[in-house]
Amino acid sequence: MDYLPVSLDIRNNWCLIVGGGEVAFRKLKMLLKAGALVELMSPEFSEDIISLSQKTDFFGKIKLSANNYSTENDKELLSGYKLVIAATDSPLINRAVSVSAEKNNVIVNVVDNLELSSMIMPAIIDRSPLVVSVSTSGVAPILARKIRERIEWLLPTNLGGLIKRLQKLRNSAKNNKLSLIQKKSFYEWFLEKYFDENLNEKNKPLANKDIVERDLYDQFVDSEIRIDSQVKGKVYLVGAGPGDPELMTVKALKILQKADVVLYDSLISDEILSQIRRDAKLVHVGKRAKRHIMSQLQINQCLVDYAQSESIVVRLKGGDPFIFGRGGEELQVLARLGIPYEVVPGITAAAGCASYAGIPLTHRDHTQSIRFITGHQQSNGKELDWYSLAKDKQTLVFYMGLTSHQVIIENLLKHGLSKNMPVAVIENGTLINQRVIIGELRELHQLIKQHKVKSPSLIIVGEVAALSKELAWFQNNHQVSGASNFRSYQNSFY
Ligand code: SAH
Repeated sequence: MDYLPVSLDIRNNWCLIVGGGEVAFRKLKMLLKAGALVELMSPEFSEDIISLSQKTDFFGKIKLSANNYSTENDKELLSGYKLVIAATDSPLINRAVSVSAEKNNVIVNVVDNLELSSMIMPAIIDRSPLVVSVSTSGVAPILARKIRERIEWLLPTNLGGLIKRLQKLRNSAKNNKLSLIQKKSFYEWFLEKYFDENLNEKNKPLANKDIVERDLYDQFVDSEIRIDSQVKGKVYLVGAGPGDPELMTVKALKILQKADVVLYDSLISDEILSQIRRDAKLVHVGKRAKRHIMSQLQINQCLVDYAQSESIVVRLKGGDPFIFGRGGEELQVLARLGIPYEVVPGITAAAGCASYAGIPLTHRDHTQSIRFITGHQQSNGKELDWYSLAKDKQTLVFYMGLTSHQVIIENLLKHGLSKNMPVAVIENGTLINQRVIIGELRELHQLIKQHKVKSPSLIIVGEVAALSKELAWFQNNHQVSGASNFRSYQNSFY
């Protein structure tokens, strides 16, 4: 970096422009905008300069000295100016101004001359109080201007409204009660929540919005994860596997037997809960489909609270905590607050259910890759890449796909997947009451309806699903198949 970008406060300070032509006029306007008092020195001045200096707005703010810049008495000449700009068409005078400014320790800019300048002017986007400056260190001013245009285009016009809103918040009584750290996180939270929303609504200035200051602060306080005392313990994010308690890892079991408190989801079975140390506190924070016992925020706060009072805090999740389990989000909260943690992986539903249904997720003759997909995408508005999902030679595993199964079927067919593609629906996989329903894509909806499939269920789409008829081994009373030519299994395993 050749230059230090700074924002200089020149309000009510005298600045000197040596020159009286068009360039001097431009510089004059800029300095006045920044609140400076400006003296211009030149034997003559352009019409523009003269008429500006006669405007009442600038009364006492512009002084025209109609004389040639002289190198004599350098010291007196330049003393008292905050900065000096040389904008004459005489290289000799420009150099003289630069030399004497240098001698007098006054910041100087010589227009279009890097060597003689101790300061250069960036291209600016002025949305005061927001000012964006772009500088190429004087190397390519045209490029800087081009970049400025691009940025100008990127910045929404009603930024001013947002800034005014921030200014108002800053002066509000509530704000003054927040600590420095709280203030910082309040603004981060505010911008995260309202930045895009407000900027996209071009014609609605933020000030008109129906968000009362008081509510804003309340919302913020609710959203903030608080840590009040020293952290005592460690949080273990543990995967409990898909259901069968024997599918838990040895490490998971060991931690459950040492736990002081276990925060668990709805999918965790009683058999697994019975493995937890007797004296441990059990906290059900569960989420199942749309029924939430605690919001994610409350769960996060709960984890943080327990980390302050207990030694071994376990966050127990179904399957693997990093697969559609929001484990990452919970860890981010802990990481930010400096709370120690460990992660114990688990067998994810796809692996567990497929194994217990006799569906090899990969098979050299049938599939080259596996996709784990959430069926919840519709609710958050993000479209899946159906085109790539509808390609064959891959195994698709839909988690949480029951409610949206019709959208899944429709899109896969629309994007070219065969209507005869084998599918499997596995309900309560790996548990005694596991049901496996197999059939073809075209009949999936009917099968789900006919068998009244319930959550938790996994949908597998791909040629390998058909192998279940040959490879199923976990045979209980609940194996069923579709109308197509698959056999059903009726052998009792238990
Ligand atoms: N982290 C978990 C997934 C949580 S999302 C994991 O790695 O397995 C919850 C979804 O997982 C359910 O909606 C269902 O689609 C699937 N699932 C979990 N356990 C299941 C089970 N025993 N049988 C069938 N599907 C299951």
